[in-house]
Amino acid sequence: MTQITLALSKGRIFEETLPLLAAAGIVPSESPESSRKLIIATNRPDVRLIIVRASDVPTYVQHGAADLGIAGKDVLIEHGGEGLYQPVDLEIAKCRMMVATPVGFDYQAAVRRGARLRVATKYVNIARLHFAQKGVHIDLIKLYGSMELAPLVGLADVIVDLVSTGGTLKANNLVAVEEILPISSRLVVNQAALKLKHDILQPIIAAFRGAVLQ
Ligand code: ATP
Ligand code: MG
Repeated sequence: MTQITLALSKGRIFEETLPLLAAAGIVPSESPESSRKLIIATNRPDVRLIIVRASDVPTYVQHGAADLGIAGKDVLIEHGGEGLYQPVDLEIAKCRMMVATPVGFDYQAAVRRGARLRVATKYVNIARLHFAQKGVHIDLIKLYGSMELAPLVGLADVIVDLVSTGGTLKANNLVAVEEILPISSRLVVNQAALKLKHDILQPIIAAFRGAVLQ
């Protein structure tokens, strides 16, 4: 029997993917939040899930360790998307990639006078491209989390981060000053698997696509 493996991350992506899986007739046999298992069986003997870090999903799919995966556009841009087919925007885990600064920092004025900006972010490729397109010179400071702290302690002038409600920014006296791009999660498929396992993958991709439109 041909087996397929779907790579998912815990948290919001797993939760928001459950209805899409259901549309494809896939029901996980347990929750990764409670079970701690990294390989999760489903009601379908030919489908299993693996639970990986959100930013590792493209890597598992690119190398064929997973046939399919679900990853944020942020993660896909940072990864580069090599070897990945991206057939469906699932319109889940929606947020926006934004530039944010401390309240009172005049970002537009700094840009106008050609100031060099210190930018702290986890999303170095997105940030580099954005400021290059604006013609703004930056010093990029790579962080792995809690970007909001950086401007508060003088590590950076601005941050590039994902924003949904803006609550975390507000709690830290920061404000979003520019949208870079809207973000949602995409279905990604290993290009070789799409050919070799077409008969089993195609109906799953179609079910996901159909579930998005509702
Ligand atoms: P980790 O939290 O383990 O460092 P991560 O932040 O990349 O990793 P999640 O927080 O689970 O992982 O985010 C997974 C994806 O969900 C992100 O890649 C992004 O596309 C999306 N996302 C992140 N933050 C939000 C948010 N506040 N609202 C909606 N979607 C978000
Ligand atoms: Mg996170």
